[in-house]
Amino acid sequence: MRQNKAAGGRRLAVLLLSLILALGLLTACGTNGEISDDGTAESNNDTAVITLKDLPPYDGQRYVELNGNKPSFTDAELKEAKEAYKFFGDLDKMGRCTVAQASLCYSEMPDQKREERGDISSVHPSGWHSGMEWERMHLIAWALSGENANPQNLITGTHDCNYNAMRILEGRTARYLEDNPRKHVLYRVTPIFSGKELVARGVQMEAESVEDKGRGLSFNVYCYNVRTDGAVINYKTGAVDSTAVTGQAQKPNNKRVYILNTNSMKFHYPSCSGVADISDWNKKKVKATRQELIKQGYDPCGMCEP
Ligand SMILES: [Zn+2]
Repeated sequence: MRQNKAAGGRRLAVLLLSLILALGLLTACGTNGEISDDGTAESNNDTAVITLKDLPPYDGQRYVELNGNKPSFTDAELKEAKEAYKFFGDLDKMGRCTVAQASLCYSEMPDQKREERGDISSVHPSGWHSGMEWERMHLIAWALSGENANPQNLITGTHDCNYNAMRILEGRTARYLEDNPRKHVLYRVTPIFSGKELVARGVQMEAESVEDKGRGLSFNVYCYNVRTDGAVINYKTGAVDSTAVTGQAQKPNNKRVYILNTNSMKFHYPSCSGVADISDWNKKKVKATRQELIKQGYDPCGMCEP
């Protein structure tokens, strides 16, 4: 009974938030969002306000539906989406991503058998720190768009958000495009920052299949950019305190688990996407300090920057 009431209250909160978000995004898309200290975002040229306050706090669910899972695209945007395009909003004054929007279609997707994802290690998104297990998180996934090292499309994200939330929705989108190679999906990802924080609290993901008016694919969700292992994120700076996980402060002289590539002589965090590409012959799991590995001739991977 109590549970139901809470769920109802939360649905209402999410609905309210979505209405606010929807109003904001209709006008804010493509503009340079200005975000005030109290966790509200205002675009520069209108009265749109996005607020995080009404969003349910993270309770173990990796993403929640907004506005009854209905995206907030305008008729004009849906009409325009009959042809493929990609749009990436300018970084704001603090160097943060603003929005990525695209009309996706099968012919624009990279052929994953022949093309390889490019090196994105040159991009250091706002809040990025080496040695904190951050991942460069695409707003619009490479697999959907072929976008590689585009600073307007990469934010500082957690493995939990990247793999356990965003990837589920990305996979759903990819399957629709593969099954409907002549159709389009209008797709928008908006990172949500609080105040002047450098790391996004989460991302809103919206998608609608264009030609069948959302019957094939339609969603509007908020994915939490959180760590589920107890490490504490300082969203203002991007520093991560993993004392609760390791029992020790994250110092370079502490032992932890790394994955070695004994062929390329690189070491990775176990969560690095590069680990999947290492053949079993060359893969080795070790517990060591960073210095020990460097002394043995290993270099830190440029992607996960362990
Ligand atoms: Zn790596």
